[in-house]
Amino acid sequence: MSNPSHLLDEATRRLDALRSTIERWNYEYYALDRPSASDAEYDALMNELRAIETAHPELITPESPTQRVGTTPQAGFAEVAHPLPMLSLSNVYNEEELRGWAARLSRVVPDTPFRFVTEAKIDGLAVALTYVDGAFHRGSTRGDGFVGEDISANLRTVRNLPLRLNPDAGPAPAAIEVRGEVYMRIADFDRLNDRIVDEGGRPFMNPRNAAAGSLRQLDPRVTASRPLRLFVYSIGYVEGGIMPSTHLEALAWLRSFGFDATPDAMPNETIDEVWERCQWWLGRRDELAFQIDGVVVKVDDLLQQEELGYVAREPRWATAYKFPAIQQTTQLLDILINVGRTGALNPTAVLEPVNIGGVVVSRATLHNEDEIERKDLRIGDWVIVQRAGDVIPQIVQSIPERRTGEERIFVMPDWCPVCGAPTHREPGEAMRYCTNSACPAQLKQHVQHFVSRGAMDIAGLGEKLVDRFIDLGMIHDVGDLYALDWEAVAALDRLGEKSAANLRAAIEASKAQPLARLINALGIRHIGERSAVLLAERFGSLEALALADRDTIANVPGIGPVLAASVFDFFHEPRNLAVIGKLRTAGVRTESDEGPAGNGGALAGATIVLTGRFAGLSRTDAEEQLRRLGANVTSSVSKKTSAVFAGEDAGSKADRARALSVPLLDEAMLRAVLAGEALPDPPAKPARARNAARASAGADA
Ligand SMILES: [Zn+2]
Repeated sequence: MSNPSHLLDEATRRLDALRSTIERWNYEYYALDRPSASDAEYDALMNELRAIETAHPELITPESPTQRVGTTPQAGFAEVAHPLPMLSLSNVYNEEELRGWAARLSRVVPDTPFRFVTEAKIDGLAVALTYVDGAFHRGSTRGDGFVGEDISANLRTVRNLPLRLNPDAGPAPAAIEVRGEVYMRIADFDRLNDRIVDEGGRPFMNPRNAAAGSLRQLDPRVTASRPLRLFVYSIGYVEGGIMPSTHLEALAWLRSFGFDATPDAMPNETIDEVWERCQWWLGRRDELAFQIDGVVVKVDDLLQQEELGYVAREPRWATAYKFPAIQQTTQLLDILINVGRTGALNPTAVLEPVNIGGVVVSRATLHNEDEIERKDLRIGDWVIVQRAGDVIPQIVQSIPERRTGEERIFVMPDWCPVCGAPTHREPGEAMRYCTNSACPAQLKQHVQHFVSRGAMDIAGLGEKLVDRFIDLGMIHDVGDLYALDWEAVAALDRLGEKSAANLRAAIEASKAQPLARLINALGIRHIGERSAVLLAERFGSLEALALADRDTIANVPGIGPVLAASVFDFFHEPRNLAVIGKLRTAGVRTESDEGPAGNGGALAGATIVLTGRFAGLSRTDAEEQLRRLGANVTSSVSKKTSAVFAGEDAGSKADRARALSVPLLDEAMLRAVLAGEALPDPPAKPARARNAARASAGADA
């Protein structure tokens, strides 16, 4: 503090660092179309540079990035001097700064009411278009504001750029310069990036970047293949015609000539209204078809604009309210794996905490390993993170230009990070799964499935109690349910001895559940109620199923190779076998009454469909009893269906039964059949027909 020359040295050093970094970013952005910093990061450095220069005006040099708007043209395009400089706007970031801007207007031109116009600030590339005698003559980029690049050939390919001014609007001026923004709609941008990725290219970072890259192609045919669009927002100059007297009139005039003028421009009488309108646009940002990064506020009256004039290289009569950033640059510190309740391994990005639009973000979703590979994300990378609306933050891309060589390539683990079991990813699937059914991460869901009504049907063992048993370490797999310490269970608060006794009885009773329910209860991937029935019928015991090879399982009608692989893998995971051992030791039945398929029951060969609600028994129970009698229970009615039992609220299946002349029976008849009565008009089907019916049952599954 006491040494001003020391402070000045420090400011000079910081200025040099800022200027060289900004210049490098400018070059990457404008000349290479490969930015290595986010807009917010760029703005932050620019603001710091401006602040230092404001405090030390003696340090401003002509080469400072604050002294120009863009960068020099790239070789390949002719230079075009702008007759009227294309200046950039000052920025305001909040209400206070907006009011400060308006207050300065009143100091320059006192006692004058101003009318304002607010319009969206399209995130694209600024261009100047000249028309001579009504025909498109030349178009150029902003460049450094004084000299731009002649990109007429490329601009001609922009679909909504009028090559002739609409003659219906009246005589065209001898010459007119129109200013606007070339941009890309978000949907078009997404499609373009998909195409580039398909062709093995590197996708664009955002629509603005894509528009800029497309517009500055040396080959106009490439530009023509890109979905560029144009919004115009002002008139630079008019020769041989009359300049409108307000900005809103100018926009209307441009529209009548055939231009897409900036949409929803609105007059605002007070700065309160202006601020309200800025918030309105901010609220709509995520719903628009194109990206906007703020709101432009202008004084409407062009004479007032002239009176207000310019300060430095910015018009005093306009400013841009910049939205809070939705993208930021930060570092990817690590990639963590969470194992979900289904056993899926979910990668999550751990980020150096960064403020994005007012929210500190330290985690981002990564979906799956393919996404990590596609975006080429490495641990230690600088990345661009985006937050939009309430969506979980996402990593847009890595910035390979900023790599130091210390970054690590992430590999999805072959072993579950929770339990150490092997992980497995099926071809064609995006997710990798832990193969261990006793994995603690999956255990809660697994136990809930095991005790559910369609499985072992253990009443009184709800989700909360399952969670408590697991959290207290009382069970480590479903086998432990049959070896619970009942004194400890009864001692759990709010449970009591009565409930504990009931639960114990229910668990005891579940030991006698049919084999199909047990197979379903084991939670083998892809195996549900219906395929469990097919497996129980074919193999007759858990032991036989466990010993079967892949082909034998795959050949069961309705199973096929994918389910077979899942079953086979399950019975070759030692942890699963250990659980089955516990179940067997506890006395859980692992054989079916009927034994393997071939011992036909009373309904052997019959294909039955249940529909609607039955008063006295559940659909699951009815289906199971029918199956025990040898029937195939399917879900769709066909000519092969032997009978349809319809309960209350039976719908289209009953109609279909009538249409196909399939016997349609009621609940009383269902009870009679379950009690041993034969089906009325029993379909006489040979043994081969049964197999055919089972195959179709499998197809229904
Ligand atoms: Zn696991």
